[in-house]
Amino acid sequence: MAFTDRHGGVSAGPYGTRNLGGAVGDDPGAVAENRAKTAAEFGLDRVVFMRQVHGTDVAYAEQPFGDEPPALDGVFTDRPGLGLAVLVADCAPVLVADPVAGLVGGAHSGRPGTEAGVVPALVEAMAARGARPERMVAVIGPSACGLCYEVPEDLRERVAARVPETWSRTRHGTPALDIRAGIAAQLALAGVADVRHDDRCTIETADLYSYRREQRTGRFAGYVWLTGA
Ligand SMILES: [Zn+2]
Repeated sequence: MAFTDRHGGVSAGPYGTRNLGGAVGDDPGAVAENRAKTAAEFGLDRVVFMRQVHGTDVAYAEQPFGDEPPALDGVFTDRPGLGLAVLVADCAPVLVADPVAGLVGGAHSGRPGTEAGVVPALVEAMAARGARPERMVAVIGPSACGLCYEVPEDLRERVAARVPETWSRTRHGTPALDIRAGIAAQLALAGVADVRHDDRCTIETADLYSYRREQRTGRFAGYVWLTGA
């Protein structure tokens, strides 16, 4: 498991430099080079990218989806050496592994995905293939924190009605959502005992891309993979 940042790539301007997102307006050649460089650094031959749509669909993958990936926000595999990438810039990349079952997965859980439960959907899909939540390790990656992610009052109320732990307020006292707390609660409810955090806030960390901070920007990613036998 690893999270990239914005350094060490070839993208220019607002995408500088290691943008891994293919749908944000960056030069496709630069994105391809950044993806290849990142895969090589992690020792991965192949990497699965999803077409993320803030939904709850999860799929098993045994190889990359190719040029037209399906609309998914969660993916898992049992194939050693196959990387799974979750692209983000404020949404949370959530990486999950059951080393005993030999399954790893990743989910893209921002505000809509957390509200709809994409992380529980991933845990459930992996469990249906032999993983056990009590053996899983989950990492909630860098994302907008509950002190920064300001939202309208009615949105806070709506999301908190479904996931109470998301209710938050900013440093200025205005309505906010704590997506990470919501995901941690969802993982606990799903029976995942070992939940770890990369506490970096994207909005507060210049080394990471943040849509809230910059609007026109790139995407960093969480990567998860099984090492070969
Ligand atoms: Zn923050």
